[in-house]
Amino acid sequence: MSQRKVRVRFAPSPTGALHIGGVRTALYNYLFARRNGGDFLLRIEDTDSGRFVPGAEDYIIESLKWCGIKVDEGVSVGGPHAPYRQSERKELYLKYALELVEKGWAYYAFDSAEELENIRKEHEAAGKTFAYNSTVRTELPTSLSLSAEETARRISERNDWVIRFKMPEDEDVQMDDIVRGHVTINTSTLDDKVLYKAADQLPTYHLANIVDDHLMEITHVIRGEEWLPSLPLHILLYRAFGWEETRPQFAHLPLLLKPDGGGKLSKRDGDRLGFPVFPLLWKSPAGDISRGYREDGYLPEAFVNMLALMGWNPGDDREIMSMDELIESFSLEHVSKAGARFNPEKARWFNAQYIKKCDDEKLADILEAQLHTHGIASTREKTVKVCSLIKERAVLLTELYDLSDFFFTAPESYDEKVVKKFWKNGNPAAVKEIATLIEKAPGTDAAAMETLLHGYIETNGLPMGQVMNSLRLALVGQSKGPGINDIIETLGREETVRRLEKAVQTLGIPQPEQ
Ligand code: GLU
Repeated sequence: MSQRKVRVRFAPSPTGALHIGGVRTALYNYLFARRNGGDFLLRIEDTDSGRFVPGAEDYIIESLKWCGIKVDEGVSVGGPHAPYRQSERKELYLKYALELVEKGWAYYAFDSAEELENIRKEHEAAGKTFAYNSTVRTELPTSLSLSAEETARRISERNDWVIRFKMPEDEDVQMDDIVRGHVTINTSTLDDKVLYKAADQLPTYHLANIVDDHLMEITHVIRGEEWLPSLPLHILLYRAFGWEETRPQFAHLPLLLKPDGGGKLSKRDGDRLGFPVFPLLWKSPAGDISRGYREDGYLPEAFVNMLALMGWNPGDDREIMSMDELIESFSLEHVSKAGARFNPEKARWFNAQYIKKCDDEKLADILEAQLHTHGIASTREKTVKVCSLIKERAVLLTELYDLSDFFFTAPESYDEKVVKKFWKNGNPAAVKEIATLIEKAPGTDAAAMETLLHGYIETNGLPMGQVMNSLRLALVGQSKGPGINDIIETLGREETVRRLEKAVQTLGIPQPEQ
């Protein structure tokens, strides 16, 4: 086969929110295209009008954008093979279906949905399963059983005919899959799939998919494992059209599995175990809301990194990898055959790693918006500084405000448990004393505070942890937050002293226990 430019496509059907398994398929296609200097296409496969969901296409485009997956050609950007939405290519497919009839690879079938249902029921009653295949195609009303005249009459008079693929009898179809290796399937296990429906003048997935992959010069089909059973039909379609020379190579990706137990990861698992299975929040046309990683506070880089490693590895033990590093290391040979168990805890871990190394200014933009929602004003400088202090502890971006609210608002109450634990013995008196020392101190930067606090506590033989925790209680209201010295530096002298004095006033100085 001649060396062609690598061209891959992500070909979702707009049937709802894009599952993270779908995002991973898009990502692997993208990484493969970039790694090989190829093109990444986005094609919308919307020929199943019954399953079409408004808003789903926009959702897909926005999801890819959020992940940093750039489309070279496709619905959102155009390109030499436009249109990239199959419903807009509608007129194109009949010709190909007819070509197969002409060549003897397909035939017309005239049974109505109702008739087929009845036959199915009869079979069931007789304890058999019905399959539309070589044993029935010459008995049922098809162009293979009816005369040419009768066939022509039915085609012109009825609009419920379909064109079906004429599956060869008892042939071993040999297939090579980059992930799965060599696979052989005997055609006797396969039925005559519908390729085209006159009723809506639309092709089915199989025909449109093969025709478009051919016309769009796709070199590699990288898709979910659920499409593996369709592969023999697809291989035969390439043969039937005489396109074997340029047939793409196939790679079927392993399933994303439930965190616990067996089976494919579903939205229900996410609901049950408390994590999203969609990249972005999705509001269905019926008004149902599903959580998304973006809205739950994940950085797209963390999400992408986590997803990339679900079913692929770089060949070494690296875990934190940027998009560029993923591209650099990506190969289909390192995609695993076995399903990848989804791990929501690992997703949180990745996010925490990325927040830790995230730029303070970027985090400040996010915190600023959260402060705004809470009606709190802050200077940019302070917000940035606060971010630099709390990012060590953040797992989700949505937590930035909760981790830092005390920097902006003085505590109005004090956590009772913490009071009980630390606000006793000589600690309150020490807090009072420290307030006067800070008031007079030459500077209140973290280093100066370190010297002052340690000096005072040690000189007076006080318990370090107890006093520090009492200070934290007075400044924060509870036992959270970064180091005391950093808190004081950020709050500044005045605010620090005010908070310490207020705590002493509110909580009083209890008599040391006997
Ligand atoms: N439209 C199919 C889907 O929804 C595409 C499968 C393929 O990539 O061939 O997943």
